[in-house]
Amino acid sequence: MRLKKLYFFLFISFGSYSFAQQVKKAPNSKPKLVVGIVVDQMRNDYIYRYWDRYGDGGFKKLVNKGFYLRNAHYNYVPTITGPGHASIFTGTTPRVHGIIANDWYDKASDKELYCVKDEKVKPVGTDVKSRGRSPVNLLSTTIGDELKLCSNGKSKVFGIALKDRSAIFPAGHAADAAFWYDDSTGYFISSSWYVKELPTWLNEFNAKQLPKTYLQKGWNTLKPIETYTNSIADNNTYEKAANKKATPTFPYEYSNYLIPGKYGMVKETPYGNTITKDMAIACLKNEKLGKDEFTDLLTISFSSTDIIGHEYGPRSVEIEDVYLRLDLELEEFIKTLDAEVGVNNYVLFLTADHGVAEVPNYLKDNKIPADYFEEKKLEKQLREYFLKTFNDEKILIGCFNQQVFLNESNLDKINRQYVEQKLCDYLVTIDAIAEAYPSSVLKNGSFEGRDVKALMQNGYNHQRSGNVAYELKPGWMDHKKTGTTHGASYSYDTHVPVIFYGNGIEKGSSLNYYKITQIAPTISDLIKINYPNGCTDDPIEKVLSK
Ligand code: ZN
Ligand code: ZN
Ligand code: ZN
Repeated sequence: MRLKKLYFFLFISFGSYSFAQQVKKAPNSKPKLVVGIVVDQMRNDYIYRYWDRYGDGGFKKLVNKGFYLRNAHYNYVPTITGPGHASIFTGTTPRVHGIIANDWYDKASDKELYCVKDEKVKPVGTDVKSRGRSPVNLLSTTIGDELKLCSNGKSKVFGIALKDRSAIFPAGHAADAAFWYDDSTGYFISSSWYVKELPTWLNEFNAKQLPKTYLQKGWNTLKPIETYTNSIADNNTYEKAANKKATPTFPYEYSNYLIPGKYGMVKETPYGNTITKDMAIACLKNEKLGKDEFTDLLTISFSSTDIIGHEYGPRSVEIEDVYLRLDLELEEFIKTLDAEVGVNNYVLFLTADHGVAEVPNYLKDNKIPADYFEEKKLEKQLREYFLKTFNDEKILIGCFNQQVFLNESNLDKINRQYVEQKLCDYLVTIDAIAEAYPSSVLKNGSFEGRDVKALMQNGYNHQRSGNVAYELKPGWMDHKKTGTTHGASYSYDTHVPVIFYGNGIEKGSSLNYYKITQIAPTISDLIKINYPNGCTDDPIEKVLSK
């Protein structure tokens, strides 16, 4: 009897002890701040290729001390900026979140629509009229939205980028603010969707005129140019200088761009990333992020890597230099987080919104199949096709983002499925085109994994997308003859680094296939909030500490 009592006593006390521990531990174990970093147009191989050139405090620190997914991919097309940023932070694809491209043909208004355009709101912080921007077209919640709901509004959520869409989609609908760069003034601005006026600290930040200071420095290589052996020669026919210099060669100078109205040039230099980091640090400090028990979210997208990548391509000295410099910006930012928020108080993830293709002419010169294609020319060709085949060229509305939009009222007269299928049969006779599928396949099919049809279906929104989707052959693109672009279903555009680092993250790496849409549920689980409401994927258990 006595023994039983003793056992009972021990059971009660140990039981309550461990429960008390858990209760005590739970709130403290949650990160005080989540930082989501997107590098615009960063292919996974940039981690490997420049590894020996990176310092110890930037990319290397994240990889060595965090969890690195080495085989993470976009699981939809098109692999471009608007959909990329939306998918990272919603945990789903354009099929659900609705951001099917940067610009798309809007059936209701019969006009092209920019993904963050919103005429019902006004810009805040600039005099430029008619540039209302908001997340109104984003159909599902983001990590930040759920954080706001979960904390009854007490969590702070901010998004920062040079590009408006790269600040707005990561921040989400319920954020305190998204801030982006206004080309004409060189200021970071916002929208009446979020704020009535810019915070005082931001007016002070803008008053410093940092774009001018940075442009005055010009752009030369960080290290001696002869050490850039990861890249092809600086002067080559695959690049075009953004400042209209006759040769695409270092050093670049910007004395013609030092006046308001021309500060947009800073985006085409590595200083675009510098000013983004400066802005992120200013926001972190002034908004006191990560200081209380309510987890905050700061999203940062580095846009200049993309803008420079488009002009010079992935083999250029210019892009190597941008990454070496971005590595230093990351180092400074991580040090600031350690000092301001505390080493163990934040979790950070870094990824990219898409990769990038090689310059087709460069591939051709290396005997690798690739070429150029023009969607506007295809449109002309299709008008002739519809006239010849159906005696009605007005069936075609147009081609946008590798989708063909047809006139629904004209299709009433002819069998829709028949027209779509015949069009697909025709499209695959065109040299540039690899595959084409009608809407019935994308609406009703069931495809898995990395099948191009699965990627098309995940990118296919039933209300917003077109009648037929097509994919080009690998290496082909719609782009001018210098520089390059992205948007395809192939690994050069889908394969991006995903690195988690900080509070709650295991150390390690994995070569298993993971999808970009797994980031949001992983972070949501870590900070114990609902997954974004359209989330279609699972968290990655391996990444999270036991
Ligand atoms: Zn992008
Ligand atoms: Zn060059
Ligand atoms: Zn781009």
